[in-house]
Amino acid sequence: MLDLIGLSYVVDAGILLLYAYAGTIPVTVGPAFAACGLIAVAVFIALSEAGFNDRFKDHYFVVQQAIVNLLVMLSFAYAVPEVGFMFLCTLFVVFSFSSLRSTPRQTVVAWVAMTIALAVLFMLTDRPLSMPHGSPLERLATTLVIALSVGRCMFLGIISSTLRESLYKRGVQLKEAYERIEQLAELDELTGSFNRRCIMRMLDNEIAQAERTHSPLSVALIDLDWFKRINDTHGHPTGDEVLRTFAITIFANIRNLDKFGRYGGEEFLLVLPNTAHDEAVFILERLRAIVADLDWSAFSPGMSVTISAGLATLMQDESPDAFLARADSALYTAKDRGRNQIASA
Ligand code: GH3
Ligand code: MG
Ligand code: MG
Repeated sequence: MLDLIGLSYVVDAGILLLYAYAGTIPVTVGPAFAACGLIAVAVFIALSEAGFNDRFKDHYFVVQQAIVNLLVMLSFAYAVPEVGFMFLCTLFVVFSFSSLRSTPRQTVVAWVAMTIALAVLFMLTDRPLSMPHGSPLERLATTLVIALSVGRCMFLGIISSTLRESLYKRGVQLKEAYERIEQLAELDELTGSFNRRCIMRMLDNEIAQAERTHSPLSVALIDLDWFKRINDTHGHPTGDEVLRTFAITIFANIRNLDKFGRYGGEEFLLVLPNTAHDEAVFILERLRAIVADLDWSAFSPGMSVTISAGLATLMQDESPDAFLARADSALYTAKDRGRNQIASA
């Protein structure tokens, strides 16, 4: 930004030289104007490089810069009224620059300072602030003043719309990242099923919903049989793969409204909304058969995996804990009866 302001001063000094060439003003005005502007810019760059700005809330010194540039413009308008309008034109550029970075409060402060300074200038001088266009060269210079002032304001507009666009893109990226975080916080890393916290919350919601609508609700605690043996025989990584394949298989064979999550270790919770006991038995029996019939030989020749499940259907005014406890004891029953089967509470 400071480089751009410096460049802006150099451009204006060039136009002042044109006026000097046309005989409107002394030749020293252009270099003097460039010197004032560049010294101001250099001071602000030096302060910034020295870290002085960091001590202040506004690291950019927006108001200070606006006021320094304002004073330069108005001093030159006072000293060289023959081209006074040019410095007033440049005020638009100065305040476009500062408004890019200022807060509403800073904008008001800078604007009030500008208005007061302008009033003082008009009180101090009764010489007309001119817009010279007598000779062709003056007309060229004056055209350049207006064209370049408007051009610089428009350029700053482009900068601000680019900033806005990149801000919008950042916002979209942030939203995506947030959604991903939310997703990760809900999913079990290994199996991609809902994690325990999430499936428990879903169970609570489904119980509330079932009570409200008087619809049946069933849950099944599903546990892989002899899983320790699978780990011991084929290794833990294979055990992980089995868990993943099992979860994918269940996902592929349940309805959209069913909720499936990892309850812990190799134990999973399947929530079946709007499902009465008999239908739940049918669903679980089907899942059990699908898992038992899967070809696991890709993992290890002759390997077989079976599941046992404890099934419970919600009773009136039953708490989530009591509901799950019944499913859990049914699971024990299924294990006791020899595994690879479903037991109902
Ligand atoms: P049962 O038929 O009675 O359920 O026997 P089991 O061997 O499956 O039961 P047990 O609870 O004794 O063993 C569960 C095993 O599951 C023990 C544990 O090492 C294993 N396990 C738990 N979580 C994971 C996991 O994320 N990856 C793997 N590979 N193994 C796991
Ligand atoms: Mg087990
Ligand atoms: Mg277990």
